[in-house]
Amino acid sequence: MKLGKKNMHTVCIHQGQIEDKQFGGAISPIYLATSYPFLDVEEKRYPRYFNTPNQEVIANKVAALENAERALPFSSGMAAISTSLFAFLQSGDHVVFQNEIYGGTHHLIQEEFSRYGIEYSFTKGLELSDFENEIRENTKVIYLETPSNPLLSITDIEGVAVLAKNRSIVTMIDNTFASPINQTPLDLGIDLSIHSATKYLSGHSDISAGVVAGTKEYVDRIMYKGRNFGGNLSDFMCFLLERSIKTLALRVEKHNTNAQFVAESLDFNPLIKKVFYPGLPSHKNHDIAKRQMHGYGGMLSFDLDEALDAKLFQQKLSMIKPSMSLAGVESTIIQPSLTSHALLSSQERKEQGISNNLLRLSVGLENKEDILSDIEQALKKCI
Ligand SMILES: *Cc1c(COP(=O)(O)O)cnc(C)c1O
Repeated sequence: MKLGKKNMHTVCIHQGQIEDKQFGGAISPIYLATSYPFLDVEEKRYPRYFNTPNQEVIANKVAALENAERALPFSSGMAAISTSLFAFLQSGDHVVFQNEIYGGTHHLIQEEFSRYGIEYSFTKGLELSDFENEIRENTKVIYLETPSNPLLSITDIEGVAVLAKNRSIVTMIDNTFASPINQTPLDLGIDLSIHSATKYLSGHSDISAGVVAGTKEYVDRIMYKGRNFGGNLSDFMCFLLERSIKTLALRVEKHNTNAQFVAESLDFNPLIKKVFYPGLPSHKNHDIAKRQMHGYGGMLSFDLDEALDAKLFQQKLSMIKPSMSLAGVESTIIQPSLTSHALLSSQERKEQGISNNLLRLSVGLENKEDILSDIEQALKKCI
């Protein structure tokens, strides 16, 4: 079943919920048992087996939102990412990563892959030819992330999926920034869609979780690896995440509207050199974004005029808080050159287009004029 925009709200609220047959309560009960009747080894319920009732609620909800056969909840986004990658890669294999990628994923690759004999390469850019150029005889996985962090660059999802399908390569996408409301990569031919559910799926800055969605065959394969690695999500967190996802479509629609408004307004501000937001026609990949996204999301970044001090600007903000995380109901901001991308040399940052005055804004759900006026008043104090 293809989800229309309309029934996303209904799926968010109802899909997968456990019926409380005992008392008729309106929400899923929390089942904390770690011991269930023994049937046979395959079917036994156990938290690390990813099959407790509350874990299945999340699995069913996310699978429906991603148009997937199956999904699995993990204890963090990195648990979902690492388990998925290790389920499909072994010594002697090669994997292609897009060059703009989440910092934690970058660390995983650089610190662990060589030790296990897994070869990898990063694309030089985000064009389809950049992906094609890195494919080798032994390439088993292509991994993308769009919109990317922090420049909100867009990769042509369908194009990469076709490249990979022709060569029987498995494709994985980090779909965190878009959320399943704004982007359903499986519809575009991608095999596995992964989220840090710590971000939009949770949305209230109070849950650490991850999910992966795809075909039953591929997600089962990840589940069996996951039983060895042990990155399962606790039932309490499944309950909280279920509660959060009920408002996912509602929240993401508002994030989209607020971010579009802030991006358009900042684009006209003379104190801002450039705004990066896929919903702006001036964005270098706006056409691809328009084709493959249902909404442009709540993340944007902007370059302050060189004469302004980015640190002072952040200190002068009164409502918007400097914070590493993102996608909460509250607006937050970070300076990538000092945080997520601080470990890169300034030359490497320059090559990626990340200036020292770049700021990444996670546009929250406050009144959009309040978000904009906080930015404008802080800018004025920096002149
Ligand atoms: C936060 C984040 C992750 C990692 O998720 P955790 O829940 O922190 O492990 C991965 N990808 C993206 C795009 C993220 O923003």
